[in-house]
Amino acid sequence: MPQDRPRKVAIVGAGSVGATIAYACMARGVAQHLALYDVNRTKVDAEVLDLNHGLQFVPMATIEGSDDVGICADAEVIVVTAGAKQKPGQSRIDLATANVAICRRMLPELTRLAPGAVLLMVTNPVDVMTYVALKLTGWPRQRVLGSGTVLDSSRFRYLIARRCNVAVQNVHAYIAGEHGDSEIPLWSSARIANVALHEWAVPAHGKLTVRDRTDIFVNVRDAAQQVIAGKGATNYAIGLATAKILEAILKDENRILPVSSLLTDYRGISDVCLSVPSIVNRLGVELALDFPMNEAEEAGLRNSAERIREVIGSLGL
Ligand code: NAD
Repeated sequence: MPQDRPRKVAIVGAGSVGATIAYACMARGVAQHLALYDVNRTKVDAEVLDLNHGLQFVPMATIEGSDDVGICADAEVIVVTAGAKQKPGQSRIDLATANVAICRRMLPELTRLAPGAVLLMVTNPVDVMTYVALKLTGWPRQRVLGSGTVLDSSRFRYLIARRCNVAVQNVHAYIAGEHGDSEIPLWSSARIANVALHEWAVPAHGKLTVRDRTDIFVNVRDAAQQVIAGKGATNYAIGLATAKILEAILKDENRILPVSSLLTDYRGISDVCLSVPSIVNRLGVELALDFPMNEAEEAGLRNSAERIREVIGSLGL
């Protein structure tokens, strides 16, 4: 990775998600060079102008935009957010055909322009899109990943933290599997500080009950629909989550994040992209960790893999 050039992140799609990722990256000083590409020239120009007007208040960076894909040249990481989004009541899987078609058109040019990049998929259904991107680029598995359940896990942690009245930063808990309806909460490994969650007693309530856990998980699983019903899109949390993944890559952090990546013989699961806690560094996703799971969680993960595989199969790849 060249060290003498500013770190460049290209964001494809300057809609709600792409523009908010740029904003989160800019505010955190994640990359010195942000390039936004969108087929909608008016939109990308306006977003870039608005971002640049705030430059005085954040670490210095170059932020530019275009409707010419050439702006993505030589990026170290390409983030793909272009495509259709869920309408109220629609599932992420419903978006597959339209968004795969966009990827088919776009990826050959992007891979030519930035042949050494890490490709980070955010467009939904993100696990399917990550698999499709891997097949279309032919890149090594490490260099193609999806934002996966990083967002879902932060929703999970937020709700556990709120229920237990502790800071969210003290909660360690993951959602694994599909970023979607078949995702699974890894309750057996959830901890607050260093205490197993199943041993944690909430003052004046005691340990979390089955009902508490069900409420929390249903809330996580259906969170996007709740936000979309109210404001038409989810953008802030995915913006911050993606900025965190980018930071892990660009700063070579070896951060453990539940990103989506191609699994090979992972607890019997192969040839599908889904999320398990993984090591993320400058290579992209280096390793899917052999994470502790009980039998029910493992069965849930396998079911999730089947659901994603069914969608991939229906696309005739
Ligand atoms: P949006 O409609 O606001 O923006 C999409 C943008 O993509 C538009 O500006 C559009 O002009 C652009 N676009 C379309 N085709 C393009 C192409 N071929 N090249 C370049 N740009 C193109 O949608 P959004 O709310 O930003 O959502 C974007 C995607 O992100 C959706 O698929 C959504 O479901 C997904 N999403 C994923 C997560 C996650 O956790 N993975 C979270 C939220 C949203």
